[in-house]
Amino acid sequence: MNLEKLIRDVPDFPKKGIIFKDITTLLKNSDGLNYAVNLLYDFAKGKGITKVAGIESRGFILGGILASKLNAGFVPIRKPNKLPAEKISATYELEYGTDKIEIHKDAIEKGDKVLLHDDLLATGGTMEAAVKLIEELGGEVVQIGFIIELCFLNGKDKLKNYDVVSLIKYD
Ligand code: AMP
Repeated sequence: MNLEKLIRDVPDFPKKGIIFKDITTLLKNSDGLNYAVNLLYDFAKGKGITKVAGIESRGFILGGILASKLNAGFVPIRKPNKLPAEKISATYELEYGTDKIEIHKDAIEKGDKVLLHDDLLATGGTMEAAVKLIEELGGEVVQIGFIIELCFLNGKDKLKNYDVVSLIKYD
């Protein structure tokens, strides 16, 4: 199956010059959804993963399904001021300014083996911050899975000590 054909390019969204990789066209296709989930599951299975952490918001979708298939728990990593209980945060650089993501303090236990998931790897700033959150709570990042990788932005350089997998690569 050609997953790339199920991704919709939306030029100039959310701002001029950006080609937004829209995964909703993949998600609504039952064969495509199953195929993508099973590929990511095959990469992750057998590694003793105890938690899948998904990044808001598109990382929640396959992250949740993967957690269930792996018999692991699901943990949301969210934008600021969304999580209700005690939390920690990590700040990362954007093209202009900074952004922040948060996780509940009790989301990860020491020794948890964690699969991190997001829909897309661009510069890697978001995922690098997510790794910090997991490790600060004593979790071990066993694998990092994406549907899409924009290779030309070299986001993998920020994650070079980790097992990074992606299903669709754009050079
Ligand atoms: P980065 O921190 O630069 O790796 O950006 C990754 C985050 O931004 C992910 O949560 C993506 O969903 C989102 N993102 C960045 N670039 C794009 C793009 N071209 N299309 C869709 N989502 C993107």
